[in-house]
Amino acid sequence: MDDSLVQLQPLSQSRYEQMACGFGYRAVHVHSVDRAGSIWSDAGNEVHHVLSVYIEHLAETRQPTDVEYFDILATGVRPESRDGLDRARNSLVVDPDKILGTEQYIGLDKNFALVVMERVQGGHRTSSDPKIEYEGTLDLIVLPAPTEAEISDWKNHFFIAAPDTFQVHFYPLLLFCALPSLEVIHFRLEYLRWGVGRSVTFTRSDVPRLKKMATLARSRQRKLTLLTKEPKPTPHKGCMYCPLLLGGCPMEKVNPYARLSPEERLRYQLYLDAARETNLTLLKEWAEEKPISIQDENRITYTANFVPRSRTSYTLDNTLPILDAWDKEHPDDQLRPQLLIGASELNSLAKATRKRPGLATGLSNVAMITPSSEFQITREALRPVAPRNDLQKLVRSRRSNPYRL
Ligand code: SF4
Repeated sequence: MDDSLVQLQPLSQSRYEQMACGFGYRAVHVHSVDRAGSIWSDAGNEVHHVLSVYIEHLAETRQPTDVEYFDILATGVRPESRDGLDRARNSLVVDPDKILGTEQYIGLDKNFALVVMERVQGGHRTSSDPKIEYEGTLDLIVLPAPTEAEISDWKNHFFIAAPDTFQVHFYPLLLFCALPSLEVIHFRLEYLRWGVGRSVTFTRSDVPRLKKMATLARSRQRKLTLLTKEPKPTPHKGCMYCPLLLGGCPMEKVNPYARLSPEERLRYQLYLDAARETNLTLLKEWAEEKPISIQDENRITYTANFVPRSRTSYTLDNTLPILDAWDKEHPDDQLRPQLLIGASELNSLAKATRKRPGLATGLSNVAMITPSSEFQITREALRPVAPRNDLQKLVRSRRSNPYRL
């Protein structure tokens, strides 16, 4: 296709993410290379569809919940959608009178004036209307007050990200422009499978800043689309979804995302962890005797040795009077409410349940728990099937010592 005939598509959250690599962006949006789907993106669409139909049903029938209807909608969904939907089923309660709508597509023109706002069934869409320069599909909009809105964006991901992405700023901008009466918008990322949310609040005074951010991104998108020479590829997280990753990316041979499959990466990580641990153990044993030093070609010296280190802590008994005295003298800078005691210190005291009955319960009533996601590699061994003779021995040994596994 003649590149000069390529229509500049509206700026959207996903196109913004793809622009991180201009080469990959142009492959999809200028040269029309198809992006392959994945089980996980299909699951995400499925979850969005079920929730959207469910919430529209609650709004129409004026109910806060209707789990029977939810179960009908969720019948037969793929296993990858199940966790998020199960949690949503049990926790989602709405005020039907405050729902503005689900899957609301908003398209704005180049001056951020509203061109279209309507429900799109079946997920995200893009517009071919040349007037539309900015677009997005908002999963759920609720109006708790006439001048206040909440946008919920449903995520089926495992990772709980901080609310600082382009999308977090862009969607409130779309809604501020679509509904001029709004003064405050809360944008909430809902991590469905964990039942956890992260939110940010914007006021109308943020709009000029948000428009500037979007205008800059739009002009970058325009330049990228109209380039006459392909830009250099830049590997980034988006490579995982790029259709050129395994064929066509000029960085294919060195791109870290292309070199190993996700499963090979896990094997490699286990190998690295084991190698690091062994090496560190041996190094520490050598360093028990004397410091070990090497120098690189830039004459920088690296030394492995044991050095003294102090850990500072404060006894509560002696510290509280100091803090209270401060709080008394500085009513505008109260320290007590800001301080937290580490869980590991208190948990170790509460563990002795015979010596300190009730302490664990008391503490659990005041514990502050902040859910987040943590990367981990779990290990689950298959129980070997013991041959019959061994099995009999095992049964005998259990009988004689029931606590021995
Ligand atoms: S695979 Fe290559 S072309 Fe695609 S986004 Fe990554 S670096 Fe860019």
